[in-house]
Amino acid sequence: MIATPNLINKVVSGITTWARVNSPWIIHFNSGSCNGCDIEILATLTPYYDIERFGIKLKGSPRHADVLICTGPVTRQARSRLLRIYEQMPEPKFVVAVGSCGISGGTFAGCYNIVGHIDEVLPVDAYIPGCPPRPEAIIDGVVKLLTHLKNGTRPEPIKPQLGEQA
Ligand code: SF4
Repeated sequence: MIATPNLINKVVSGITTWARVNSPWIIHFNSGSCNGCDIEILATLTPYYDIERFGIKLKGSPRHADVLICTGPVTRQARSRLLRIYEQMPEPKFVVAVGSCGISGGTFAGCYNIVGHIDEVLPVDAYIPGCPPRPEAIIDGVVKLLTHLKNGTRPEPIKPQLGEQA
């Protein structure tokens, strides 16, 4: 059988999706949070919760990351850095907003130094509500995102309403 360009593309695309779903590399950025959400993200990465069992690995460079996990509202100071990190990530890339402040501004909403919440700066693919969300909620949110990637669909994020917790 002669491999046609279509068949080759299909095989390469299948392998790429398989690799992305089984080994999504993440980068974590705090765009203005109080650190509460960040501590829960770090707990999620520890052996106790062991998010690496899903192949998820924290990276230090946006150029190696598939998923940007962002906490907090976006401060005026952090906005350009957040955008720079996002722009440096290779396509396809995904954004997960963790915590009430990232979703709606939370306790920082309306502060003089806040530009807005994360989806006012970047396209968000998944929201994880809570103040702060527990590691189980973070794992649940990331697994839902991976399920969409596995099915070859881009998630249609449902933004939690005010007061809704994970
Ligand atoms: S959601 Fe709660 S824990 Fe997370 S940054 Fe806001 S105030 Fe802090």
